[in-house]
Amino acid sequence: MSTTAEKHVFQAEVNEVLALVVNSLYSHREVFLRELISNAADALDQLNFRGLTEHGLLGADTELRIELIRDESAGTLTIRDNGVGMTRDELIGNLGTIARSGSKKLMQSLSAEQKKDITLIGQFGVGFYSAFLVADTVTVVSRKAGSDSAWSWTSQAKGGFEVAPAERAGRGTDVVLHLKDDAKEYLSEWPVREVVGKYSDYVRWPIRMEVERGGGDEKKSEWTTLNQARALWTRPKAEVTDEQHREFYKALSHDWNEPLAWTHFKVEGAHELSGLLYVPGKAPFDVVDRRKSGVKLFVKRVFIMDDAQEIVPEWLRVVKGVVDSEDLPLNVSREILQQDATTRFIKKQVVGKTLTLLEELAAEGETEREVDGEKKRVDRFLQFWGEFGRMLKEGVYHDVDARERLSKLLRFRSTKDDGLHGLQAYVARMPSGQKAIYYTAADSLATAKASPHIEALQKHGYEVLLMTDAIDEWIVEALRKFDDKPFTSAQKGALDLPESDAEKQQKEAKQKELAPLTERMQKVLEAQVKSVRVTDRLTDSPACLVDEEHGMSARQERVLREAGHEVPTHKRILELNADHAVVKKLQNLDDGTFAEWAALLHDQALVAEGSLPADPAAFARRLTTLMTRA
Ligand code: ADP
Repeated sequence: MSTTAEKHVFQAEVNEVLALVVNSLYSHREVFLRELISNAADALDQLNFRGLTEHGLLGADTELRIELIRDESAGTLTIRDNGVGMTRDELIGNLGTIARSGSKKLMQSLSAEQKKDITLIGQFGVGFYSAFLVADTVTVVSRKAGSDSAWSWTSQAKGGFEVAPAERAGRGTDVVLHLKDDAKEYLSEWPVREVVGKYSDYVRWPIRMEVERGGGDEKKSEWTTLNQARALWTRPKAEVTDEQHREFYKALSHDWNEPLAWTHFKVEGAHELSGLLYVPGKAPFDVVDRRKSGVKLFVKRVFIMDDAQEIVPEWLRVVKGVVDSEDLPLNVSREILQQDATTRFIKKQVVGKTLTLLEELAAEGETEREVDGEKKRVDRFLQFWGEFGRMLKEGVYHDVDARERLSKLLRFRSTKDDGLHGLQAYVARMPSGQKAIYYTAADSLATAKASPHIEALQKHGYEVLLMTDAIDEWIVEALRKFDDKPFTSAQKGALDLPESDAEKQQKEAKQKELAPLTERMQKVLEAQVKSVRVTDRLTDSPACLVDEEHGMSARQERVLREAGHEVPTHKRILELNADHAVVKKLQNLDDGTFAEWAALLHDQALVAEGSLPADPAAFARRLTTLMTRA
């Protein structure tokens, strides 16, 4: 090492990722080449982009390319690019830390078993560190575009690296791999060709390598291009293989799992664009990181930006891909994008294409597919729903334009069976006479299913949607109707059940008969409830608590409060089952214990719906008194 070399230590997570990569990725070690080529291609994209505005940056070196240099005598394989390069500080920052947000926290939370799972580890962006799968020493020599000085970075992976001044003829980066004994095959032409063909054919920059031609005296070496060097999305749809899509997706997303589905599209007309959009098979660990979108923006094949949020709505942030516009100016910035009408058009296309893809998956149902080399029956839409259903719900809530199409993709649990059900199927099953789509919400499926509020609905043979996500009540309220059928909460307002004239008269008679009881009860429960009335919701339970038709439910209020909003509590309505023995007994109760019984009835209605009484100790005391007397 040169005497001016400075020693640096890796950030703690890097050591851990390095150890994991080397241990758990060993059997896939050929991926190192995909990762390093992908980094080189990104560096070329970035240079190309900077070259748009910085005249002279490219100089005479205008043929952007990646070169693979095999040096048998030195035992090295070098991945060279004439891309944007790195400064000294960038070498230290980029190759000594892991920048992905949340990765440190996630790393700490992973169990030993999970740490062996490369699909989890891969998400940290093991990219560069995969070099250590095949090399015991890695030297990076880089010169930033526009700078006169070059720097080298060298590491044997054990805890740290050294940085020193270096020589490099022009801008760009060399990643020199001193191959381990068991990886010497990468000094030969065919293993390298094979790996490039398998993993990196989608790369749009030429990947060049010097190869031997002829034999004996005729033997000479010449440079050849190993890949098609044409952007994948510009190739005819039928020519792109599933394998190429999978590899392109993996390089783009840092996801080691295969994509669930993709769409390759071209839009022609007043605006022209083409692109590739991929739906992941599994949610990444930072799926809640709302700022990120996984779509890269290109203009006429020139890379413009990663993470183009302007063209992808937040609720579609899990979609990865590329959009290439023919209409945006090459010097487009985030500021311009935010105001440009073309942006809105592109965004609409991205949403439209993705929705079409999801609709196709939903229509496909269960099919036989090859998953990790095995034939399996899978329902890709339900798989998507399991991972990302939450995001479609956000879409229903926030994206008014996409709402109608999205509503058909929603899936809910219901009282029908344990499956997930769409709204179209629900409506198709509605018996004649049922006017609304009924739902009930609780924190767990078991509580929702056992909710007293749905007793009468079930007796009528009506299916009830069981909602357990905090956002569910808001989205059905945003939708208001589906296929002209209003959403009606079993826990709010009136149920609008069909009734004969005789039933109606009977109900009125009961209300009249119970009027003294409801009035008396209202008086003693004044602090807790808004009113007390006779119900038509219950068949087995004595009482339940309901909310006004147009107000928030108690659960919605609680969700808001838990999210830190200040929400005043509202009083609810206590409904009594006139046919229940307890209610009948209360009618004639005259021994001074009425107030206690009324409070108990109120609190048990809370417990039955999965809520906690305001004063649990008092509730328990009353219950004990009752048990003692019995
Ligand atoms: P990722 O590619 O996911 O960001 P890597 O560990 O592969 O993670 O690389 C870390 C960073 O190092 C890259 O983001 C990039 O800034 C820089 N880098 C890696 N290889 C090159 C290269 N060939 N040219 C320029 N910068 C590079």
